[in-house]
Formats: sequence, C-alpha cells, structure tokens
Amino acid sequence: MVDLVVRSRRAVVGGTEQPAAVSVAGGRIVAVDDYAAVLEAAENVDLGDLALLPGLVDTHVHVNEPGRTEWEGFATATRAAAAGGVTAIVDMPLNSLPPTVDADALAVKQDAARGQIHVDVGFWGGAIPGNTGALPALHAAGVYGFKAFLADSGVPEFPPLTPDQLGEALRAVDAQFVVHAEDPDHLHAAVSSSAYADFLASRPPDAEHAAVATAIEAARVTGGRVHILHLSAASALPLIAQAKADGLRVTAETCPHYLTLDAAEIPAGATEFKCCPPIRDAANADRLWAALADGLITCVVSDHSPCTPELKRQDTGDFAAAWGGIASVQLGLPVVWTAARARGHSLADVVSWMARRPADLVGLTGKGRITVGADADLVAFDPAADFTVDPVRLHHRNPVTPYAGKVLTGVVRTTWLRGRTVTGDAPRGVFLTREGS
Ligand SMILES: [Zn+2]
Repeated sequence: MVDLVVRSRRAVVGGTEQPAAVSVAGGRIVAVDDYAAVLEAAENVDLGDLALLPGLVDTHVHVNEPGRTEWEGFATATRAAAAGGVTAIVDMPLNSLPPTVDADALAVKQDAARGQIHVDVGFWGGAIPGNTGALPALHAAGVYGFKAFLADSGVPEFPPLTPDQLGEALRAVDAQFVVHAEDPDHLHAAVSSSAYADFLASRPPDAEHAAVATAIEAARVTGGRVHILHLSAASALPLIAQAKADGLRVTAETCPHYLTLDAAEIPAGATEFKCCPPIRDAANADRLWAALADGLITCVVSDHSPCTPELKRQDTGDFAAAWGGIASVQLGLPVVWTAARARGHSLADVVSWMARRPADLVGLTGKGRITVGADADLVAFDPAADFTVDPVRLHHRNPVTPYAGKVLTGVVRTTWLRGRTVTGDAPRGVFLTREGS
C-alpha cells in the first residue's frame, strides 16, 4: 500500500523541473509517475504550481552540543533545518565539548543528540595534532570523514595541523578530508575596530590561496580526497581547476553569504556579518557564481555557525573581538534561490548545489534526489513567494542574522522526512553513518 502521493507541476527530478507524482511507502520513494497518473494512496497531496524538491543536504553545520549548547543545540538546529527545507545535516566536529576527535567523543555527541533531532544527522570527525592514531577507529564508527584546520580554529581544543601533519592524517586513513583553508602566515592580527574593512584586511585572499595550495599538495602527494570548505577567495579557483585537471581528488564548496553579501555594504559594527574566511567584494562573488555555473565549485552549504549574542559583541561592534560565524541553515535555500533566479539559474541548479552534490560528497546516495529507492525527504517550496526575514521566526537558538530585514523569494511550505511531515513536535530524525562503516 502506498502511504502518500505528492504531485507537483514543478518537481525537480533527475536534474530537471517537470510535472510528477511521487509515491511513498515505508518512508521511501517507490514510484515517480506523470503528474496526472491515477494512483491509490492513503494520503494525496497536490501541490499544483508549488515546487517539489528533494530535501536539502547540508554537510556543514556546527551544532555545538554538548559543551556549548548555549550557542546552539540539536533540537534547535534541526528544527531550523527542517523549517529551511534541509532534511539531513552533517555536524562539524568542533565547538562542541568534547570535540569529535575519537570514537568515544562521537558516542558522547550521539548520546547528547539522541531523541531530539528533527532531521537526520550525520557527523564529521576531526583531525588535530596527535590524534592520527584515533582516526581509523573513528572512521569505522561511522563519521563521513575528517575536518582539519590549517590556521587557528577559534577554540583551543581544536588546534590546526601543519602541512606535514595534514599529509600524515591523509595517509592514516582512506577518508574524505574537509579543510578549512586559511594559511596562518598570511593572516594578520585584527585591530580592534568597528570598520568591516579593517577585519577584511586582516584575512586577505592570499591566506586562502596559500592554504588551498597546501591542501592540494597534500592530496597530490598522498592520493587522498580533499574538499575545500567554505571557499570565499575567488583567486584560489584556478588552483582548484588545475588540481581537477591533474586528476586529483579535490572538490570545493562555498556558502550563501559569500555568494550574496558584499563587503562594501556591511555597516559599521555589524558583527553579524563576521565569518572566517570573510565576505569579500561583489566582483569576487561574481567569480564564485561563475565557478558554480561551470561546476568547479560543486556545493553550496550553510556553514551554520552560531554563538550567543554576547559573543558577537553587538554592544561594542568590535569585529576583532566578535566570534566569527553566520547561522543560516534555515535561510540558505531562499537566500541562494533569490540570487540564483536573478542570475538566470534554475531551481534544478539550486537543488544540484544544495541537495544532490552535498549528498554525493558524503556518499548519501539515498538522499538529495527524487528517485525510486531514495528516502522520501521532500520539500514543498513556493518559488515565487516573497518574505521579509524576521529573526523572531528563526528556530535556531540565537537568532542573530545578517539577513534580518532582507526581502527574499522562496518559501518552504512543508518538509517531509521519510514520508512524514516535520511538525517540530515529535523528533523523528535518525543518525546517519557512512556507508560501509
Ligand atoms: Zn564551519
């Protein structure tokens, strides 16, 4: 018996937008038929001209629980995700305490998350100096790979790797590595200032360029898989293009804020715009869009990285002292869609960047796509409706956002997780583990 049929004249199926009827049984997609097909089901939903998307997969989310739950926790982060059309997140290993740097720490984090997740949750492990020996067991416990920094991470318990240590980690385990690519030798101490330009000058494009080169070299000498996280500096794109041309296993992502925000328009003291690497100028963003269009950048993920309002130093507006991070798991889809549409991209492009390819990055072949056999993670999305971002309507714990007051296009109407609507009441998310673990 089919539990649910969802019809839409604008379903994103197989990389294109088309009319379709999606049948769901036992939490999975069991058929994809013509929009007008006659189908028996316990529940029928006809979205008409609303779009039907696969649930987005956000592989870059900092939940921070346990340890810094006052910054963000699993209940609030996953409610925000569901409200934003994201049905699977992969949690970053740092800012929680303990950081996810060995199998015991993973178990601690899963214990903290259990029973309160509204979407499915997987985990990255962390590679830090001295934990190389722990990586194989952590990988076997189900993490999707390992995050490493090349510069200060902002928290003392998650130190960066040297280039040699990155190579050592890549040799220790055949896993996906994801690298925060800023080079400490090219970063300058930020001076206390409420001017965004002063902060921006402290983290020049050269810092990303040098670290991307280091990460690529590590992939070259080890044969390992390296994914460049949250690329901001477009000047590093030729390095990534060359690495791909050389056949190296190197990929890159960027984030909604690097694509859509402009350094020149950041007001004095507006520390809600602070993140690392920093938001750069509009010409840089144009080059990131071009790289997305030609497939050089494969994914757009949130880098949802909240903290308390106090740590954002909104009282003083000092960019040097403020915590760096933008929390946008709930807003990524409309932020990206609003700008993508204006640039002539399709909804199918956005789904590719925010669902299919992030799922592929971590081997989640049953997510991020509407196809028979995949999980029935679905989103009803109104691609023409406008709304004004009101922080009160954000579900993450501390609704600080650089998008407050912005008018965006695209509203998530309903999110289904494995065939059932996510209401925010009963958490039904499950833990995701790497295939083969
Ligand atoms: Zn991050």
